Amino acid sequence: MTIVEARTPDPKKFIKGATGDWEVVIGMEVHAQVTSAAKLFSGASTEFGKDPNSNVSLVDAAMPGMLPVINEECVAQAIRTGLGLKAQINLKSVFDRKNYFYPDLPQGYQISQFKQPIVGEGKIVLDMPDEQVVVGVERLHLEQDAGKSLHDQHPTMSFVDLNRSGVALMEIVSKPDLRSSDEAKAYLTKLRIILRYLGTCDGNMDQGSMRADVNVSVRRPGEGFGTRCEIKNVNSIRFVGQAIEYEARRQIAILEDGGSIDQETRLYDAVKGETRSMRSKEEAHDYRYFPDPDLLPLEFTQDYVDELAAHLPELPDDKKARFVADYGLTPYDADVLVAEKVSADFFEHVAKGRDAKLAANWVINELFGRLNKEGLTLETSPVSAAQLGGIIDLIKSDTISGKIAKDLFEIVWTEGGDPAAVVEARGMKQVTDLGAIEAVVDEIIAANPDKVAQAREKPTLLGWFVGQVMKASQGKANPQAVNDLLKAKIGIE
Ligand code: ADP
Ligand code: MG
Repeated sequence: MTIVEARTPDPKKFIKGATGDWEVVIGMEVHAQVTSAAKLFSGASTEFGKDPNSNVSLVDAAMPGMLPVINEECVAQAIRTGLGLKAQINLKSVFDRKNYFYPDLPQGYQISQFKQPIVGEGKIVLDMPDEQVVVGVERLHLEQDAGKSLHDQHPTMSFVDLNRSGVALMEIVSKPDLRSSDEAKAYLTKLRIILRYLGTCDGNMDQGSMRADVNVSVRRPGEGFGTRCEIKNVNSIRFVGQAIEYEARRQIAILEDGGSIDQETRLYDAVKGETRSMRSKEEAHDYRYFPDPDLLPLEFTQDYVDELAAHLPELPDDKKARFVADYGLTPYDADVLVAEKVSADFFEHVAKGRDAKLAANWVINELFGRLNKEGLTLETSPVSAAQLGGIIDLIKSDTISGKIAKDLFEIVWTEGGDPAAVVEARGMKQVTDLGAIEAVVDEIIAANPDKVAQAREKPTLLGWFVGQVMKASQGKANPQAVNDLLKAKIGIE
């Protein structure tokens, strides 16, 4: 593969070595479990967490004479994903056998796609803090997962659980377009968001539904690609970042020492925070790929693809652009809201017919802040979109001040209820009655003649008076009215 480089070297990303700058080059191979009730070539269930070997059909156990039958839903999911990655969809693709022996692979081969994958080139756009990075997707292919060997259940025996055997995976391969661990983390985060929006993979990395093989090499800026190492099966976005940082420095140290990098497969040990060798290129398997004679080439029509395209949901990039354009949100707030479809939907529910910036502020800072703190999610939130909207309406109509609104949020959070009714019942309404506010203002001015004199010299002291009046009114006085009255009475322009 000749790669025309899509990136120009950026000194901000260089890693300083003992003898000068280095650039890190990263490409990712992500295995994403297809969301589907049944496996890729059998009707067995894909449900997570079942007793070992309870989701296994005769096909998954590779009983002699059993034949694979393609699951159309998995094909549709791969196409949807390809469309979401703005990729080439191949109307004809081929399933191959990838041959190797392992106790958790009863067939003795994995059915995968090699020369002709279902999805070709696409791209993922990353919004980094001060630039947009377009990462090329090389391909996406469908393949079966293997079973799982369990070595830690018994001192002298190993067990095999075939529940995962035959589950559909999408392998999504990026071009070597990433240039820092931050970009690599952003890539995985963005891919995960896209897959979750599409509903084609749940992205649960802790359940193994998304695993990343991270390819890392280093080079002097401006030079051709260096030899890469592949770090297998990293199962969290944070670990991907740590593994890259460690691996890049390891390679730099070797090269600066006059050594050379062996192309090898490595593992990341999250406890020690380091990568270590698993096997070298010499030990690499020769998989003897060949087209699976039990399966016909996979073919479908452009109409079929168009039909799936017509039903795709709005994707995160489009949603973000719409939130910025239509609601006037900052790109940062829009990013926070579109990170999960449920949060974007929640925000739109709150913002409907209201001040959208105020709504975004309340959703992100008050609600999300509180949910994070309590370890809750929107699904388990004690405050609904309707309740939050109710609080915002009370602020907007000047019924309550922003400060009282926070108290009200607290009450609704712990006790529930309709915000307007709570305000009514607890007498939390803002006092806009000028007479009542004036009485308090007069009292405070009379009690502090020296401060009044000071404030005439130094108008910023007005804030102290505002604070006193607000305190005396238990936060219920309308701050604007307080401000105006104080200025007039003390004699500040
Ligand atoms: P293979 O199929 O042998 O693993 P590929 O050429 O398909 O090799 O590449 C696999 C992954 O490695 C891709 O994600 C690609 O972007 C990445 N990659 C290729 N060359 C390099 C390199 N020099 N440095 C870092 N990553 C690389
Ligand atoms: Mg590979």
